[in-house]
Amino acid sequence: MKKGKKLYEGKAKIIYTTADKDLAIQYFKDDATAFNNLKKSTIEGKGVLNNRISEHILNNLSQIGIKNHLVKRLNMREQIIKIVDIIPIEFIVRNVATGSITKRLGIEDGTVLKEPLLEYCLKDDKLGDPLVAEEHILMFDWATKQELEKVKKMILRINDFMIGMFWGVGIKLIDFKLEFGRLKTNGKTEVILADEISPDTCRLWDSITDKKLDKDRFRKKLGDLIPAYTEVARRLGILHEQSNVSAVNVTKLRSIKKKK
Ligand code: 5GP
Repeated sequence: MKKGKKLYEGKAKIIYTTADKDLAIQYFKDDATAFNNLKKSTIEGKGVLNNRISEHILNNLSQIGIKNHLVKRLNMREQIIKIVDIIPIEFIVRNVATGSITKRLGIEDGTVLKEPLLEYCLKDDKLGDPLVAEEHILMFDWATKQELEKVKKMILRINDFMIGMFWGVGIKLIDFKLEFGRLKTNGKTEVILADEISPDTCRLWDSITDKKLDKDRFRKKLGDLIPAYTEVARRLGILHEQSNVSAVNVTKLRSIKKKK
């Protein structure tokens, strides 16, 4: 399937049209941004790993009945996805308090929450993705009551599944961000999971050492982001030892070439 024109470019992905009006190609970039675009960098190989990890998680979610936009992975950096009308809300799920909630509410970092906490942020870079209440979402018609109820049910199921999936490979799912969109088929509209699920959008800590295996390595200048993402992929069984080595080598080779 060939890429058409650019439909949308975000911080970490580009969406292209295809010959099929219902399908798009999602391209994973190596760009990393944090703090509402104030911190920017390019990390060679990040897009490849996120493409594989997100494909793995979304395919697993499909199998437990969570409908999502992924049709199939095309290659190292691209996926075919269904075009949806994105609900302009970032759904943040927290199992352990860290990141913005600790600063906003003074909750101690690492506090295990007695149940999953769902927060809503308006998807608006200019406003810095502000936290909003359910009442705002309904008031400004960003989503309907029925859509929110459906999304909440899906989120609890996704969280349960992902906690188990990561726990099984020695990783704690601390928090993550989800996006949903409206899909029209035969005149009917339904809300499905969209965007990506990867170490860019989740906080993942090693179960024993609490080592950060996610984008906080970039946000907090901890370094070694690619080895951490590779470790997540390896533990999920996506990368076999051989491809693990070659993915890292490709990255190393590229950076050696650049230095030359
Ligand atoms: P926090 O609100 O603590 O910054 O983020 C909570 C969780 O949501 C983290 O796992 C973080 O990665 C994810 N998250 C929140 N906003 C964004 C965003 O704009 N982009 C990405 N990639 N992840 C986000």
